[in-house]
Amino acid sequence: MQNNNEQGMPAPPPRVSEALQWASSFFQKIGLEKKAAEYLMQDLLQLESVSYHLHLRERLGNEQWKQYQKWTERHGEGEPVQYITGAAYFYGRRFSVNPFVLIPRHETEELVEAVLTKAKQRMDRPTIADVGTGSGAIAVTLALEWPEATVSALDVSREALAIARENGDELGASSVEFLEGNMLAPLRQQGRTTDVIVANPPYVTTREWRSLSSLVREHEPRQALDGGADGLYFYRKLAEDLPDTLAEDGLAFFEIGELQGPAIMLLMEQQLPEADVDILQDINGKDRFVMIER
Ligand code: GLN
Repeated sequence: MQNNNEQGMPAPPPRVSEALQWASSFFQKIGLEKKAAEYLMQDLLQLESVSYHLHLRERLGNEQWKQYQKWTERHGEGEPVQYITGAAYFYGRRFSVNPFVLIPRHETEELVEAVLTKAKQRMDRPTIADVGTGSGAIAVTLALEWPEATVSALDVSREALAIARENGDELGASSVEFLEGNMLAPLRQQGRTTDVIVANPPYVTTREWRSLSSLVREHEPRQALDGGADGLYFYRKLAEDLPDTLAEDGLAFFEIGELQGPAIMLLMEQQLPEADVDILQDINGKDRFVMIER
């Protein structure tokens, strides 16, 4: 976009619609998704998608336009838009994110949905542990959607716990307890059991990780994605600790890779022979979750 007119006077910043047009054609030209332009603009203007369409004719301020150009350039160099704005939306709420945590995915909203529907049928005031909480998206959402539940968020990464805690405070879920440690170790070490265990562990195989888009591979934490040679490393760890940490009559919900259902079912059944293990599908009809009823 031109910055100076013919008299050498600085041109006024563009209208929102013009800036969007400029950024989306740039993204398209270099093979990125056009809709990133809107994502960045929405965050720049701090507006919900509906009201944002009412502002398309307005001009950006000078600072806003500079910021938008900088953001567009960063995304053009491959940085995910959520790390640029520092925000990702999950279950209708705005979560802070940084490169220490995975950007929450839509599938994981369905995991939360499954916990809320299935567990609410059986429990009134459960304790819930979210293992490998990352940004805290699962733990904080569960605490807000189910105020009678007592939620703990566990992560081995201190940096992740810091941002999860920030999200809890920011979104009004300050009752969530944060525990540092590997998988279920913080509960096991305290001899604690919990009624519900939820986890979205790293489940991509190392080989798949190597072929993920550079947007993901070079920016999101490998620690949150790479589940080892067969992608099952963390399910084995979870399975080993379930007998000691999942309450009698407890429920566990794990997100899984679409081809991992049968193998994970077997792992869980070996550790908890008396439990019922089911595979649930995501909205695209792919195997995406296992549910364990003890
Ligand atoms: N669904 C994520 C992805 O495709 C993987 C999440 C995970 O490993 N837990 O990037």
